[in-house]
Amino acid sequence: MILNIAMDGPVGAGKSSIADAVAAKLGILHLDTGAMYRALGLTAIRRGVDLADEQAVTQLARTIKVSVAYDVDGQRTLVDGEDVTGLIRTPEVSMAASAVGRYLGVRKEMVALQQRLAATTPMLVDGRDICLRVLPDAPVKIYLTASAEERARRRWLEMQQKGDTTPYETVLVDLRARDEQDMNREVDPLRPTEDAVIVDSTGIGFDEVVEQILGIVKEKYHE
Ligand code: C5P
Repeated sequence: MILNIAMDGPVGAGKSSIADAVAAKLGILHLDTGAMYRALGLTAIRRGVDLADEQAVTQLARTIKVSVAYDVDGQRTLVDGEDVTGLIRTPEVSMAASAVGRYLGVRKEMVALQQRLAATTPMLVDGRDICLRVLPDAPVKIYLTASAEERARRRWLEMQQKGDTTPYETVLVDLRARDEQDMNREVDPLRPTEDAVIVDSTGIGFDEVVEQILGIVKEKYHE
């Protein structure tokens, strides 16, 4: 059986770095599905596609080829063979990713692609709809969260380290806006599924969260 782990959670819960660490400990790949929505969002911006135009965005999702590759630094995300990994972490692309992710046709394309990847490769898949839609039968499902203030504080610290001087309040407002969009969209809104284990990382150190998740994985695989 292929080892697949499903992990969902809101923006800034530390999913990406936690998922990287857990996957590395287990010797499996980490598929960052957010990067795929970001790649589509970036392409829509670049081509001047109106993010409010569901048909045009869906058409774009069907036309471009989003793919992933792995190197020593982890996942690279590509659009029609062009590596866009370094271009998809801006606030503008974050909001665009969230906007394109509202559309059913877009989600169908993305989910199918992610399922194809996970069917053949042991992976920890992280995103927003992984437990519900992408890997509904995954033996391990995690919902990683933390308070909005803590998530914004972590994001703000990260930005400061990169020389970005955006004030904390702005980061918190943006984070709440993206939560709102992700948790209240019509198609597959973000929320924990009943069978997911909720891990709240508020006030808990990185290593401890990784250990908690590894513990959950071990327990499930010994059942
Ligand atoms: O995880 P990340 O912040 O990179 O995701 C960017 C955006 O892509 C999210 O805000 C969300 O709207 C969308 N997304 C999604 N489903 C996923 C992963 C990401 O809708 N599985």
